[in-house]
Amino acid sequence: MQASEDIPANLESVKSALDVAAREAGREAGSVRLIAVSKTHPAETVARAINAGQRLFGENRVQEALAKWPELKERNMDLELHLIGPLQSNKAQQAVRLFDVIETVDRPKLAAGLARQMEKSGRRPACFIQVNTGEEKQKAGIAPGEADRFIRACREEYLLPIEGLMCIPPEDEEASLHFALLGGIAERNGVAALSMGMSADYQIAVQFGATHVRVGTAIFGARRIMSS
Ligand SMILES: *Cc1c(COP(=O)(O)O)cnc(C)c1O
Repeated sequence: MQASEDIPANLESVKSALDVAAREAGREAGSVRLIAVSKTHPAETVARAINAGQRLFGENRVQEALAKWPELKERNMDLELHLIGPLQSNKAQQAVRLFDVIETVDRPKLAAGLARQMEKSGRRPACFIQVNTGEEKQKAGIAPGEADRFIRACREEYLLPIEGLMCIPPEDEEASLHFALLGGIAERNGVAALSMGMSADYQIAVQFGATHVRVGTAIFGARRIMSS
């Protein structure tokens, strides 16, 4: 995926492509929220996107986000930060403190840990459940066959604010099949938000009802290599 160094221009072109995709799908322009995925990019780079008006961001590691975001959030009170990477239960406290939405709830132990930390802190970030639609061994997410039961447990047992579902399709498969699968699970469980689609396939995700797309490379360019 090519992207220029000009982050404001990249943002504009992704947003207009999103509007075109929305209209083609019979949806309103501006109805899909763009999560700018800033993992591996330093705070100065993120600040360029903030200065261009972007308010919604995604990070995939708690440690990296902790190093970058408290200061950015202090300077810009209206930012919204989503956790889009796997969360270890022992980082639930930090995640509840920093993130506004946790998109990667995928197992009972984590759901219980998040519930406990929300109770303790009084902060209640919205939760999305990650579904491993491709049933890939190395990938996080609840299996599609267990999703209904897990969604119910998150709501009724753990009393989590479940607002959406999220998936990352296998790289070598038709993404649309996975988007459709996720949409079906959301519909039959009455879950409103669908976080799906990345730089390579966000327009397709919009056709399949994405409410949030997570776009990194097309906005910030290639990712930096991280040492840890
Ligand atoms: C990195 C990442 C993205 C963004 O990927 P791009 O291909 O750079 O747009 C989206 N979702 C998740 C979960 C990611 O880790």
